Amino acid sequence: TLADSLDKSFRDLRGVGRLSEKNITDALRQIRIALVEADVEFNVAKNFIERVKDKSIGEDVLKSIKPGEQIIKFFQDELTELLGGDQAPLDLNPPARVLICGLNGAGKTTTSAKLALRLKKEGRRPLLIACDLYRPAAIEQLATLGKQAGVPVYTPDASETDVVKVAKDALAWAENQNGTVLIFDTAGRQEIDDKLILELKRLHEFLKPKETLLVADAATGQQAVSVATHFDDAVGITGIILTKLDGDARGGAALSMREVTGKPIKFAGEGEKLDQLYEFHPNRMADRILGKGDIVGMVEQVADKVNEADAMRSMKRMQQGKFDFTDFLDQMKMIQNLGPLDGLLGLLPGFNKLKKQLPTGALDNKRLKRTEAIVLSMTLEERRRPEIIKGSRRQRIAAGSGSSLQDVNQLIKQFSEMRKMMKSPGKMRNMMKQMGGPG
Ligand code: GDP
Ligand code: MG
Repeated sequence: TLADSLDKSFRDLRGVGRLSEKNITDALRQIRIALVEADVEFNVAKNFIERVKDKSIGEDVLKSIKPGEQIIKFFQDELTELLGGDQAPLDLNPPARVLICGLNGAGKTTTSAKLALRLKKEGRRPLLIACDLYRPAAIEQLATLGKQAGVPVYTPDASETDVVKVAKDALAWAENQNGTVLIFDTAGRQEIDDKLILELKRLHEFLKPKETLLVADAATGQQAVSVATHFDDAVGITGIILTKLDGDARGGAALSMREVTGKPIKFAGEGEKLDQLYEFHPNRMADRILGKGDIVGMVEQVADKVNEADAMRSMKRMQQGKFDFTDFLDQMKMIQNLGPLDGLLGLLPGFNKLKKQLPTGALDNKRLKRTEAIVLSMTLEERRRPEIIKGSRRQRIAAGSGSSLQDVNQLIKQFSEMRKMMKSPGKMRNMMKQMGGPG
């Protein structure tokens, strides 16, 4: 019966069963946009999508869950795994040396002190060594932070220019400090600078640290890939510390850096205070990168607007021949509302076909506004019984809505055709099938 086929149509609408190449393509486009908007480097985003796409095709979609949400969940899981894969603790076997490197202002000095405090709380005896001989007051800054953390700091003479000599002296000093972990804060680079990279390489060569950590601002955008690659090529980083996650950075740098270096993100800085260094949480970062709120919100919006109950009511009215101009306008608006969500709409089979059935341009904003104006200029009686809208009424409606008689005629014709189709059981069934069919 028709009722049965209606039921089935809506069941099909609710869940697509399995992800197919077709219904995932549009979602992928949205997800890729989200990644790039979160500052994930363009090619990294592209590669990630490609890889995950292959994995996602054929995945089961639970009937009870909206397919769009399911796809996002899938991507979140993949992203989380990628961000957290082979998460390793710091290698602090003696001689435990940690070399901190990164661009200027990334948060190296602050993070060095934070890390020292953290290790101290774990019961170790960290020492801080100031190796930034470039920035004025950099040594002073570390001394101050070290004091706050209650950790001894090696401060070279202001006249010192050779960083390896400083490191050598610091090792001698450390002998008498009874320390177990040495943390070396280094000079930053405004951008990748040959001279400073060379200095960093010499220091690295001399210290042979077990841990070389790249400190990076979470707001690092498209250049995250080149920053990470340069430091990794120069000294072989062992991990990444992302800073300033308390800000509004969308954190795409995490994925970019992780992708190109394959090195784990070991900690996250979330504030200026020394105790605000935390273990990195891949799942939170995945949420952040996918802008969960935004995308899931978008999917929910689709679900809202394509409310099953509304759609069902509308179908029932069609079936009973009660479909009138108010329903017509509602439907147009519903479909138009989905405008920017087109990509995700593709997840709901049948909608693209339904859209194709509409006269070209029917959803165009200007046209829809005109349609609305015309419908609103009709009396209630006219909206319910369009067949009474004859010559003089049409004139009145055109004048009242500020449109031409031609526009009014056209709309009424469109509506009549839609209605005619609904009254023909064969055509109706066909339309239902298309709305609920497999795309
Ligand atoms: P360096 O040039 O890499 O040594 O960077 P600094 O350690 O001097 O930090 C630069 C600025 O960033 C300072 O004002 C820090 O207080 C601030 N900063 C560092 N880490 C964080 C963080 O996780 N959150 C916030 N909000 N600020 C931070
Ligand atoms: Mg510094």
